[in-house]
Amino acid sequence: MAAPAPVAQGIEQRPPEPCAQVRILPGAHAPAPAKKPRWTYQWKELHDEVITSGLCTGCAGCVIACPHHVIGYTHEPGAYKPFHLEEELGADDCVHGVKGCTSCTRACPRFRMWEPEADMHLFGRERDPDEMSGIYSDILLTRASDDFVYEVGQDGGLVSAILIWCMENDIIDGALTSGVESLPSGEPGWKAFPMVATNRDEVLRGAGSRYTYSANPIAFEEAREKGLDRLALVGMSCQTSVGPVMWHRKVGKVSKPIKLNIGLLCSKSFDDSLFDELFEVKYGLPKEQISKMNIKGVFQIWTKVNLKECHAWTREGCNLCPDFAAEHADISTGGIGDLSDWTLTIVRTELGRAVIDAMVRDGAIEIRPGDDDPGAIALMHRLSAKSRERWPRWADGAARLGLPERRSA
Ligand SMILES: Cc1cc2nc3c(=O)[nH]c(=O)nc-3n(C[C@H](O)[C@H](O)[C@H](O)COP(=O)(O)OP(=O)(O)OC[C@H]3O[C@@H](n4cnc5c(N)ncnc54)[C@H](O)[C@@H]3O)c2cc1C
Ligand code: SF4
Ligand code: SF4
Repeated sequence: MAAPAPVAQGIEQRPPEPCAQVRILPGAHAPAPAKKPRWTYQWKELHDEVITSGLCTGCAGCVIACPHHVIGYTHEPGAYKPFHLEEELGADDCVHGVKGCTSCTRACPRFRMWEPEADMHLFGRERDPDEMSGIYSDILLTRASDDFVYEVGQDGGLVSAILIWCMENDIIDGALTSGVESLPSGEPGWKAFPMVATNRDEVLRGAGSRYTYSANPIAFEEAREKGLDRLALVGMSCQTSVGPVMWHRKVGKVSKPIKLNIGLLCSKSFDDSLFDELFEVKYGLPKEQISKMNIKGVFQIWTKVNLKECHAWTREGCNLCPDFAAEHADISTGGIGDLSDWTLTIVRTELGRAVIDAMVRDGAIEIRPGDDDPGAIALMHRLSAKSRERWPRWADGAARLGLPERRSA
């Protein structure tokens, strides 16, 4: 099947080049372009400024970018953070970094000026103060036309529909996404893990939301072993900044295969021990008895659990995360608002627009205007501002842009 032209063109242009924004007025002298300081930051700076400072989300961008394979990662309760595998210089320094390797800091979407850099790369400008939910071109409500995809999807099944449609139209070879563990009984065990999906069945096996963490970029290694060159990355906000930051900072080898970036709106994820320590102990709800979960003001397990009670199990990496709306995705998706069986869809880039338009033309999804649910949009902006409040004042100020800054007494 031939790939629809505008989408295929958009995919080929990835990674996109930043737009030229500088206009020279007649008669003005063109200022000499400022020379960028050489990027010398290595594991030492990453360790001190991100991993041990609380900014690290556990996205695993640094892990997949390391050309020397010396960054480890444990996908287990209480962990979800990178660590150095070599002991030569201790946990906080790296032999390869000392010799000039900078891949890990270049890959990190929480290192220094990550937000303006990714904005510039994707949109050619930085976010304005009133753009709390990031830069976008349109908001829609969408759902998969295929009844089964819609049924198994978390909200409207858009994310699964996009992956299937892009695979069937030869636009991507596979997707870095999340699978869910099965218990010996065959019931879902709810432990999420990163996986590569290459066909409809695999996509649908991972459909729906788990609210524990799955560092989907880690599946990159598996995709590379399978020889897949054109990938979609599905991930929470923290993971969708991985590609744009890498493109901007020129971590080519790992970032080039990421062609499409699909974001999940996110205010937090939970540690896996939430299941055993709260749901089972307090509510007598073993994993086997949970068939679906959702968060809509309360944690819905088709038995309602007070969301506030779950806060103690918030993953450490979420505590300082400022991005609710997956602001650097091509398309961000969420399930807030009154029309909860539709996916709230934020179209951000030209590529995102081309994918949605082509899917509508093909009859793969149904859409309606986002304005049909104005409360959802207002809530998204409020939640985005709330997440930005978490970003510490001592870190690069861009993520707090637009927040009313209170003077200290
Ligand atoms: C941890 C988390 C927190 C979220 N918080 C909010 C929120 O506060 N407000 C809001 O509006 N929306 C939130 N979402 C997004 C929402 O739950 C839906 O994923 C989104 O609306 C897309 O729905 P869909 O029916 O189109 O997706 P589907 O077609 O169901 O596809 C969902 C995709 O997400 C992947 N996925 C599922 N769980 C995980 C995981 N734990 N880690 C990584 N990938 C995963 C699946 O593999 C699948 O590819 C959150 C999602 C997650 C995973
Ligand atoms: S935020 Fe991601 S890339 Fe940065 S240190 Fe943590 S795991 Fe690595
Ligand atoms: S709040 Fe969501 S997007 Fe932010 S670090 Fe946690 S999982 Fe990632």
